[in-house]
Amino acid sequence: MIRGPAQFAPDLAIRTDVVVVGAGPIGIATALELADAGVEVALIESGLERTDRGAQELATFDSRQDDYFHSRSELMVRRQVGGTSALWGGRCVKFDAIDFEDRPITAESTWPIGFDDVEPYLQRACDWAGCGQAAFNARDIPEVAAKDMVTGLPDEDVRTTDLERWSLPTRFGREYRSALRNTPRLTVWTGLTCTEVVTTETGDAVDHLVVKTLDGRQGRVVAADYVVATGGLEATRLLLASDRHHPAGLGNAGGHLGRWYMSHVEGRVARVHFTADDVIYEHERDREGVYIRRRFTFSPQLQRELGLPNAAVWMVNPPISDPAHGSGILSGVYLTLISPLGRFLLAAAIREAHTKTAGPPRVLAHLRNIVRDLLPSIAFAVRFSYARFLRRGRKAPGFFVKGTGNRYVLHYHGEHLPHWDSRVELTDERDALGMRKIRTHMHFSDADYESVRKGTVLIDEHLRRHGVGYVEWLSDDVEALVHTFMNGYAGFHQAGTTRMSVTPDDGVVDPNLQVHGVRGLYVASTSVLPTSSQANPTLLGIALGVRLAEHLAQARAAGKPPNSPSA
Ligand SMILES: Cc1cc2nc3c(=O)[nH]c(=O)nc-3n(C[C@H](O)[C@H](O)[C@H](O)COP(=O)(O)OP(=O)(O)OC[C@H]3O[C@@H](n4cnc5c(N)ncnc54)[C@H](O)[C@@H]3O)c2cc1C
Repeated sequence: MIRGPAQFAPDLAIRTDVVVVGAGPIGIATALELADAGVEVALIESGLERTDRGAQELATFDSRQDDYFHSRSELMVRRQVGGTSALWGGRCVKFDAIDFEDRPITAESTWPIGFDDVEPYLQRACDWAGCGQAAFNARDIPEVAAKDMVTGLPDEDVRTTDLERWSLPTRFGREYRSALRNTPRLTVWTGLTCTEVVTTETGDAVDHLVVKTLDGRQGRVVAADYVVATGGLEATRLLLASDRHHPAGLGNAGGHLGRWYMSHVEGRVARVHFTADDVIYEHERDREGVYIRRRFTFSPQLQRELGLPNAAVWMVNPPISDPAHGSGILSGVYLTLISPLGRFLLAAAIREAHTKTAGPPRVLAHLRNIVRDLLPSIAFAVRFSYARFLRRGRKAPGFFVKGTGNRYVLHYHGEHLPHWDSRVELTDERDALGMRKIRTHMHFSDADYESVRKGTVLIDEHLRRHGVGYVEWLSDDVEALVHTFMNGYAGFHQAGTTRMSVTPDDGVVDPNLQVHGVRGLYVASTSVLPTSSQANPTLLGIALGVRLAEHLAQARAAGKPPNSPSA
């Protein structure tokens, strides 16, 4: 059942077995798993079923936010049922076993669980995300196993068989609307924002949640277990702001809450020039029709030996905003994206990244490209519009044009190393519900910048060794290119700020995601990840939500008293 804010009477107390706060992908998967396991669940969502400006403004940063790297709040989170899945690209990638290892480069952030603890939940997470089988290497997928990304290029320390998978793209609010309405034992409350987790006076258990509507009504939620699934930054904000009996915030005995903020290191610093002709540069599809794509990755042995952060590198189209690419297709896409139609076609953050130019758009030069390339451009427009927008079910996640001269720009997407200085802090500015706002300080170190150069050199050496191509740098100043690329581009992935640890001295939540020192309070979010991997984090976040739901349901089935220690 879905209830709107109008159905919330002043001073109402919602009572339930488990309350999940936040109906993004992780909250929805966790709540539905719990309800399916027979647990009574309330899912509390700040936004409505559609976009709502008032709710969205609650996520706005402090007006003094001046983080060069960080994206604006309206580009990076969405307050509505389904959360930021209304904006996401739908790229689903698994974290690798090496991410969970103790490594010198991440010595200050160790994982209290191993890959084996999450692997059993990956298929379920893929089911929720709608990205098919949990198979992330081409050799494990019979229909594409026999092909190589580049003919004659084997997998060695540099590999080309690892895959990303793409979801439908799954907009969780739309995809699970019927389940949210009809699942027995689940009540979804929309337009209700949790502004504080109130603990008992002794501070070691939750007493209730304070919830508010935008028109001034206030009430409370009382449950046996409380799951905060409000997204990485908002989960951190809620724990920091819940300072009634814990002046530094909940789970912050070790001082880690809001620290170690990680996104990903990204940049386009080089172009690959293949001398071999047979190159798979586009998406492929597996037998279920799921879009998959190969990428350059680095073996765990090589990462250990060289002390490299984990990374993936893939081929992209040349910048569409620069008509020098000479492609009518790319010019057509560019002009469509900067037209008033553009905002209906692509999330604003992704559109901005693709269309930004130093000067005014060179519309005439783009039109000339289209006229020169008219028939292929029209054929592409028809084919792609159908596959991306009109076809029912699975949509094409994007497109790639064959590179002129067999050259492709490389996109580096790598692990952002954990830094104490990279952080989120609560400020004294307040939102419309009186909750303190946040401000971010995203930090990248020399080692982060250097990782882009090192990874690119390794690809170059691998291609040359096998005589299939080489890499051309786009500039001598690689670090400057990365710095420019990352301007306003961080924060789409939010890890580290409520990290997992064995003891309260080292992190915020325990291996079962229970907040250290506060019984019955859990965080289901990518913010619990102690390191950031090469992978986009949502799939693992959902897997952890499924694991938490199983843990809570099993504890209840075993008759464990509410709020008893989870570990
Ligand atoms: C442009 C873009 C592209 C992306 N592409 C990818 C991708 O390809 N692959 C990938 O893995 N990830 C991607 N991401 C990241 C991905 O969207 C997030 O990792 C994911 O949505 C996190 O899920 P979540 O449920 O934790 O949080 P969210 O999706 O942010 O949902 C949190 C929910 O909690 C609600 N909420 C917040 N505060 C409160 C409160 N106090 N009380 C009640 N409710 C509250 C919000 O309204 C929201 O509905 C992308 C993000 C962006 C912006």
